Amino acid sequence: MAAVAENEPTQKKPKIPAAVDVAVVGAGAAGLFASLWAGRTAAGTARVVAFDGARKLGAKILVAGGGRCNVTHHKVSEADFAGSSPAAIRKVLRRFSVDETIRFFAEAGVTLKQEETGKLFPVSDSARTILQALIREATTAAVELVHPARVTAIERLSHAGQAEGDQSHWFRLQTDAGDCLARRVILCTGGKSLPKSGSDGFGHELAKRLGHTITSPVVPALVPLVLPDAHWIRSLSGLTLPTAISLTTASGKRLETTTGSTLCTHLGLSGPAVLDISRHWLIRRHTEPDVRLSLNWLPTETTETVEAMLQVAGRSPLAVLRQWLPERLARQLCEQAGAPATGDLPRTARKQLVQAVTATPLPVVGDRGFSVAEATAGGVPLAEVNLKTMESRCCPGLYLAGEVLDVDGRIGGFNFQWAWASGFVAGMAAGKLTSSNES
Ligand SMILES: Cc1cc2nc3c(=O)[nH]c(=O)nc-3n(C[C@H](O)[C@H](O)[C@H](O)COP(=O)(O)OP(=O)(O)OC[C@H]3O[C@@H](n4cnc5c(N)ncnc54)[C@H](O)[C@@H]3O)c2cc1C
Repeated sequence: MAAVAENEPTQKKPKIPAAVDVAVVGAGAAGLFASLWAGRTAAGTARVVAFDGARKLGAKILVAGGGRCNVTHHKVSEADFAGSSPAAIRKVLRRFSVDETIRFFAEAGVTLKQEETGKLFPVSDSARTILQALIREATTAAVELVHPARVTAIERLSHAGQAEGDQSHWFRLQTDAGDCLARRVILCTGGKSLPKSGSDGFGHELAKRLGHTITSPVVPALVPLVLPDAHWIRSLSGLTLPTAISLTTASGKRLETTTGSTLCTHLGLSGPAVLDISRHWLIRRHTEPDVRLSLNWLPTETTETVEAMLQVAGRSPLAVLRQWLPERLARQLCEQAGAPATGDLPRTARKQLVQAVTATPLPVVGDRGFSVAEATAGGVPLAEVNLKTMESRCCPGLYLAGEVLDVDGRIGGFNFQWAWASGFVAGMAAGKLTSSNES
């Protein structure tokens, strides 16, 4: 079995090969997957090298899922993603299904278990198991993992006398440890989330210089939201409960609703429902500054049922709300609605309380930024990529996979499934071409 090089203290600069068949830029989830499939496909006929700027590989895999790595979800479809068109996302997802992810890891010695939420984790409950399996499989497929070597420029070279239709390409990669020529490049540099892991958005620059566009705006996804300093929700810090959060236009048209638990924090709101809606709010408000967020504290109830409950004779508003909600929240809702917590509830106050319970306005002032976000909304549009191969339509010989693309999933293992599927397609295609008799 090949040695696992994950935590080797590679302080000194690695040796950069002069020329390779496939250069993978970025050895995170998508890059490791793309390179190992390129290596497997080439089956020894091509030299596959993955470069990464990080001293230690897989920082994001190791922190994922609270250190347990939520590898995928039992049911994945294009509806779980945003960014590029659903049809385009589906085309890539169906090339490498959840079952294939489970089988891949099983064959790599990692059994996955499904939790009640539908999320899949390694039975070890350790993300390290996933990282080690990926590195082991890549190494077994003869992939060379070269790090720390940050790619600072990629130039496509056209060689003299290249005939029309000639499919051979060469690229010159500059790294901070030396230069390398490559026949194929797979760009897997990630997006902008968790920049200290090495994914700081420079991949977008590299893609742009090779002819791609980057969608605008690029914003954090799966990110906690910030409320004004003195907002009452901040005083409920630590409270977690199921909610529904809606994004609406100023005229009240509902654009998105997410459900799941919400955590009140000392800065505002977090938890799955908030993380899932964050990218929609951030993208929409770029063009429609008037879009609004509101929160339903009783997501299984409607305004009518809440109103009916509050009308039951002989029960104070606080007594009614306390049946479902923590007392400090129930008291705050009464206060915000201008409704008495005890005693009679006049009609107007009742209507306001119903509104506060089912649609508390969230005057969000910002988000916690890329250093806290789990993903990136925006990137290279899938329209610029041949979805059968993930080869660039702008720059033949360049392939793209993972979060560098304009695809982001909701919370639950979807972003990794995207990395596996797009990495598989790109790796297979790049490996196949180099293993054929190309000049
Ligand atoms: C805290 C946290 C928890 C998460 N938990 C989950 C989870 O449980 N389940 C899930 O599905 N998703 C989760 N995600 C999201 C998931 O980790 C990412 O979507 C996924 O890792 C993206 O894979 P990628 O390979 O495209 O990019 P990345 O993982 O960001 O990898 C990109 C790699 O490229 C390298 N790189 C960048 N630029 C260069 C360059 N110029 N030269 C050389 N190397 C470069 C970086 O060092 C990095 O190693 C989480 C994210 C975070 C931040």
